[in-house]
Amino acid sequence: MKTESRADLYRKLPSVDELLHEANLYSLAAREGAATVTDAARSVLADLREEIAAGSLDAGKLNIAISGLNLAVERRVRQALKYSLRTVINATGVILHTNLGRAPLAGAALEHIRNTSAGYSNLEFDLETGDRGKRDVHVDRLFRKLLSEDFDVGAGVPACAGPRSSPAISTIVVNNNAAAVLLALNTLADGGEVIVSRGELVEIGGSFRIPDVMAKSQAVLREVGTTNRTRVSDYEQAVNEKTCLLLRVHRSNFQITGFTEQPRLEELADLARRHNLPLMEDLGSGALLDLRSVGIGDEPSVLDSLRAGVDVVSYSGDKLLGGPQAGMISGRSDLIARMRSNSLFRALRVDKLTYAALEATLLAYGKGEHDAIPALRMMRWSKAEIGGRAESLAKRVRSASMKAELLDGESVIGGGAAPSAVLPTRLIALSHSALSADEFVAQLRASDPPVVARVEEGRVLLDLRTVFPEQDDMIVEALNRVAMP
Ligand SMILES: *Cc1c(COP(=O)(O)O)cnc(C)c1O
Repeated sequence: MKTESRADLYRKLPSVDELLHEANLYSLAAREGAATVTDAARSVLADLREEIAAGSLDAGKLNIAISGLNLAVERRVRQALKYSLRTVINATGVILHTNLGRAPLAGAALEHIRNTSAGYSNLEFDLETGDRGKRDVHVDRLFRKLLSEDFDVGAGVPACAGPRSSPAISTIVVNNNAAAVLLALNTLADGGEVIVSRGELVEIGGSFRIPDVMAKSQAVLREVGTTNRTRVSDYEQAVNEKTCLLLRVHRSNFQITGFTEQPRLEELADLARRHNLPLMEDLGSGALLDLRSVGIGDEPSVLDSLRAGVDVVSYSGDKLLGGPQAGMISGRSDLIARMRSNSLFRALRVDKLTYAALEATLLAYGKGEHDAIPALRMMRWSKAEIGGRAESLAKRVRSASMKAELLDGESVIGGGAAPSAVLPTRLIALSHSALSADEFVAQLRASDPPVVARVEEGRVLLDLRTVFPEQDDMIVEALNRVAMP
């Protein structure tokens, strides 16, 4: 039998055009689009050419491959048309998991997006006057209510505190909290100095570093104090005629313990007032609900900051607030008005989808319907409720090859809430007789929908706190598929 040269093998391959002429591919192109099918045909043929070049195809194997070209192209078309962004089941127990999209949206938020975005809306249109309107009015009114209502009765606000006991709080919305910090610093301190404690020069998630954002905003960083101890007097000594702003940054993702000191917000507010400077806090998480109600005592809310006398506070929409990705700046109306007229605001503004999701989320707060917001609902589930679900799930997956045990554990708030903010939970610890824990989690990730879990001490751990109860059945199915030899 004569062995064919590579050139002979290449000659056997049809051209893209020849391949498309096959009847099957024409109907496929009519259904799925000619460009997609042509791309798929081209890439399937390119793969075969590569295999020939690598010497991994002889004439026999090539003939088989050529007879299956139609199917190969069809498969590749299906792959190309599949969504890349997909639902996953989060069994990690990290409620605001940045890599998994942070806060899941409330049903009302999705409905409001659908209702206002499938057609036209009054995004920037005043329906009373028929004139051009402002897009931020839709949420500003709700923030005003949520951030002002119990101001006068708040603890620690003396009746004589003047305008601060009944402030006109305004809020603007930009793309995320990083953008909010950039806009606020650029507006309040362009070319001037901003005083920050050395213990608060934080990095959040790699690309957000306070000193870098400061540089981009054209403000000059003036570091004071030390990593572990900063006093009010350190700030006071640094104030000079170039000072534009005092900045406090929430230590979202780390703790400093031991020999430490940090001025209270009230002390900084007092200093700021004496020097007629604004005080800003980058709060990060932006809780609108008092988390003491779920047993988390060290995560300040937006209201706590404003009550303490902070002039403007910045926070994310998709962390503890439980809404869409967004960055809010709330505070003194005169300062917020300056930010609104900064041309950067136009570049950082958000679209109607975000406003719709945010408005619906805030309305849920306004109505006291905290359980309608998934992240808050998950935080409020008790260990016993999660344990009950875990027990019944474990029962359904135990087999000769699958061990499933229940353990006490901790769920994490995540997303830059207090790093110590954990909630007691019950975990399902799984092991499979034929798989390592790493192979096991990889199989779970490969299931449809993918299940994301963590591995600890050679076992796969599932925390149902972050799993929607209607997903429990899907986890059982995924586990039973893994269990099959
Ligand atoms: C999370 C966080 C940010 C960044 O917020 P994004 O909304 O992710 O841009 C900035 N500052 C602090 C303190 C944070 O916790």
